[in-house]
Amino acid sequence: MTVTSETHPGSPEHDRQVRLSAQVELVRSGFRNGVVAPVEARIAQLEQLRRFLVEHEPAITAALHSDLGKSAIEAYLTEVVTTTNEIGHALAHIRSWTAPRKVSLPMHQRPGTGRIVPEPLGTVLIITPWNYPLHLALAPLVPILAAGNTAVLKPSEIAPATSELLAARLGEYLDPAAVQVVTGGVDEATALLAEPFDHIFYTGNGTTAKVVMRAAAEHLTPVTLELGGKSPAIVTASADIAVSARRIAWGKWLNVGQTCIAPDYVLVDERVADEFVAAVGAAVNEFYGADVAASPDYGRIVSTRHFDRLTALLDGGGYDSVAIGGTPDRDARYFPPTVLTGVDAAAAVMSEEIFGPILPVLTTRQLDDAIEFVNGRAKPLATYVFAADAAEADRVVAETSSGAVVVNHTLLHFGVPGFPFGGVGASGMGRYHGQFGFDTFSHGKPVLRRGTKPDPKLGYPPYTSFKQKLLRKLL
Ligand code: NAD
Repeated sequence: MTVTSETHPGSPEHDRQVRLSAQVELVRSGFRNGVVAPVEARIAQLEQLRRFLVEHEPAITAALHSDLGKSAIEAYLTEVVTTTNEIGHALAHIRSWTAPRKVSLPMHQRPGTGRIVPEPLGTVLIITPWNYPLHLALAPLVPILAAGNTAVLKPSEIAPATSELLAARLGEYLDPAAVQVVTGGVDEATALLAEPFDHIFYTGNGTTAKVVMRAAAEHLTPVTLELGGKSPAIVTASADIAVSARRIAWGKWLNVGQTCIAPDYVLVDERVADEFVAAVGAAVNEFYGADVAASPDYGRIVSTRHFDRLTALLDGGGYDSVAIGGTPDRDARYFPPTVLTGVDAAAAVMSEEIFGPILPVLTTRQLDDAIEFVNGRAKPLATYVFAADAAEADRVVAETSSGAVVVNHTLLHFGVPGFPFGGVGASGMGRYHGQFGFDTFSHGKPVLRRGTKPDPKLGYPPYTSFKQKLLRKLL
């Protein structure tokens, strides 16, 4: 138990730390007692997690609607099925993932066998954000459990309905000695970070990531940081403009732009810029109708704090006009799809990740300008390039760096289980999804086995000149 010197018995801080320490100890001893050591036990937990998702889908849908105004189909597509698919993929491959991997030995190491044996790390702390509050909490649990670890999950206080649902119901499905849920905010997260963990998996913003990493350093705990950034969408003059606009609009306004891999802004070739903005307007109309506020498919901003942050970004100016917009409603946390044109690189909307439904459109004279613009900023979580000319897309792949690149679409790489998901540079470190997640939460332990015969004297001192000559020949 870790009770810090700042807390004294009887204080709320002390009581909280004692309570959380007990929860951490429960899963730590669960790990020591091997609750998910056998592969069969891991499979059973993953199947239970799937049962939770199936049996509680109506409650999940209601919670996501309460937190983010998500439509039922969006909740299903972006939260439920993305998680059940991750579970299905893990169940289909867990036998091969957990099997020792054979390594061939160099001649001078024979006879013998080499194996890489995956072993679990121990107990993992998961800290998650509010924007996909179900998926981002449960998807990391899949490889954590598949790899034989136990976990403490701290979902986001900013999506309270989903967090409360997880805290209230997950324990009915998962072994409490394998997974504990801790609700709460910064205080609880801080208290948890004082505890020793074997890995910390944090999803959220870069500022808090530094707090997490500093706390992890105290215990030399490895971290995975799934962060965000300004993911650009580059539209070249060769692009199919109608399709590009529709796909960017879909990626932007899904979850009202509150998506880590949403296209943050557009760099469009000036020759097709007007056509592009008009096509985005047509897509918005097609998706949500003339009265977007009345559309059941358009969600809400998670909190008034975030609503005010978006308003401030707009008020910050640095653009010529609002090409597409509407009237925001603070009480309803309704923020309309908003497209800005004539945007200056120094505009407020270009100073931080927007994480909302504002789409700045910047024009470029040629592809070189777009590449230079992207390379002049922090490495984003995703880069989208729309081009019919494959050579243009190849240039973006080769000449920029980001967590992922998608050509002629947005977001879809997220759902490919064979892809690692994660950032690079400021957009994060480490990766998960599919086997990449399993490897993140495993230690690949090399195991070399040698027999005792033969045991030639060649390798042992005294290193006579004869032995030295022979060794130099052999090795
Ligand atoms: P958030 O405010 O919900 O914070 C995330 C978590 O950090 C919460 O559980 C919160 O309680 C905890 N936290 C907050 N302050 C803390 C502190 N001082 N110490 C310890 N823990 C603390 O969410 P957010 O950070 O606003 O999330 C949005 C960001 O997350 C965006 O930048 C987005 O791009 C990024 N994101 C990344 C991914 C990804 O997979 N890469 C996914 C979703 C969101």
